[in-house]
Amino acid sequence: MPPLTPAQVLSGLERILGTEGMLTAQAPGPRGDLEPYLTDHRRLYHGRALAVALPRTVAQVTELLAFCNGQRVGVVPQGGNTSYCGGATPDESGRQIIVSLSRLSRIRRLDALDYSIVAEAGCVLADIQRAADEAQRLFPVSLGSEGSCQLGGNLSTNAGGIHVLRYGMMRDLVLGLEVALADGRLLSSLGTLRKDNTGYDVKSLFLGAEGTLGIITAASLKLFPKLRAFATAFAAVPDPRAAVALLARLREASGDRVSSFELIPRIAVDLTTRHIPGVRDPLDVSRPWYVLCELTSARAADPMEELLEQSLAGALEDRLVLDAAVARNARDRAAFWKLRETIPEAQRLDGGSLKHDISIPVGSIADFIEHGSRWIAANVPDGRLVAYGHVGDGNLHFNLNQAPAADRTAFLAREEAVKRAIHDLVRDFGGSFSAEHGIGRLKVAELERYAAPVELDLMRTIKHALDPNGILNPGKVLRTD
Ligand SMILES: Cc1cc2nc3c(=O)[nH]c(=O)nc-3n(C[C@H](O)[C@H](O)[C@H](O)COP(=O)(O)OP(=O)(O)OC[C@H]3O[C@@H](n4cnc5c(N)ncnc54)[C@H](O)[C@@H]3O)c2cc1C
Repeated sequence: MPPLTPAQVLSGLERILGTEGMLTAQAPGPRGDLEPYLTDHRRLYHGRALAVALPRTVAQVTELLAFCNGQRVGVVPQGGNTSYCGGATPDESGRQIIVSLSRLSRIRRLDALDYSIVAEAGCVLADIQRAADEAQRLFPVSLGSEGSCQLGGNLSTNAGGIHVLRYGMMRDLVLGLEVALADGRLLSSLGTLRKDNTGYDVKSLFLGAEGTLGIITAASLKLFPKLRAFATAFAAVPDPRAAVALLARLREASGDRVSSFELIPRIAVDLTTRHIPGVRDPLDVSRPWYVLCELTSARAADPMEELLEQSLAGALEDRLVLDAAVARNARDRAAFWKLRETIPEAQRLDGGSLKHDISIPVGSIADFIEHGSRWIAANVPDGRLVAYGHVGDGNLHFNLNQAPAADRTAFLAREEAVKRAIHDLVRDFGGSFSAEHGIGRLKVAELERYAAPVELDLMRTIKHALDPNGILNPGKVLRTD
């Protein structure tokens, strides 16, 4: 049978979704506006699409996949479209369908006694956090994009964020999944068991798969006791080595109640105070490095602030800390976090940047930063290092911004050489070139370069078994042509 024409594909989709369930270039008014779905958050890619599907039910997702699989139509799942590596953007062919999960956004069940929640893929992360909070529980994944990213995207990128140190990544928080497979079958495994050793852990294949193995429609997730005591400090440290030593000390002194530990360089304080309204330097004297650390407890009466102050005082005596501001109220705490969370935006507003989302064993971070800084100083005179991140889990955003007055085009033209040098150094330190942002479209060649041949071979075998016609997010993670 000859392939269907684009018009025939559109009428097939319309039969499944109804006219109100899809956007097409030909439709009048807002239903003709595909633009917001075609460009990624960082504006690295701009694609085209035959249609944006907006399913309201799981059955519509499975029917749509069965249809697209039969007609060999590429399908690009999309959540909040905040990916940093172009994972949710279609290619330029204009033949792919974007499947936005945004209307599949129900919280199906929350069981406070079971410490679990079952939510649909299109739930915005902040709404899941809110639902848990209202039930006196905590859903601990927290990211700068939590107001717009969606559960399906968080699961598919195995998102990290600021609490990984204490609660793990998204993968560690999943109890069950519901997934629409390429051939239209539904894997329904939304149990909330903590113990279930029945063969292969099939669901884990879809976590971090970036939409290349199936479309996640819902998940059951772990909850934790709501946090009721917080102590947050913005502390100046002499160097990253002292930051890592301080982390080890705080973990011990607090009985492992450090829930965030973020490294921030001076340049990030300069960028955020310059570009983001309302951000202020919490300390009076300029220092080379800072950490934003937070201790938390589910018991309101736990003296977290006292504990943090005592630990910081001891660290001051030992010169691990040079100066510190401890948040006295929720407003101070929000101000410290605003500084940290607006670093990416401030970087963007300051000019061209080259980004590297890397992880290194925590004990080697200081050496890595020393080596990397030396290389940049010698080889990228028009760039300035902005290395910050979730240092408590070894994750650094080892970014460069163009120096003031540098030529943006010339600076960005160094991307390939800089990336190669940094990723090679990461490999030499036993690290990963993609800590929490995934592969998407941006890092396919990097995966081919750095993954072990056996690992790549297994990935291709799994892809072929689950998506033999290569319709799911073609060209992302693995090259399929
Ligand atoms: C300001 C800011 C801060 C950020 N901070 C962090 C951070 O701290 N940690 C971190 O890990 N990330 C961070 N990110 C990156 C991004 O927000 C996360 O990767 C997020 O998890 C993506 O969710 P999303 O809904 O926007 O997914 P999208 O961008 O829409 O999609 C991401 C990938 O998942 C696939 N996908 C989406 N939904 C589904 C589904 N239902 N089934 C199958 N596949 C699907 C897409 O095809 C794509 O490959 C940040 C981004 C921004 C803009």
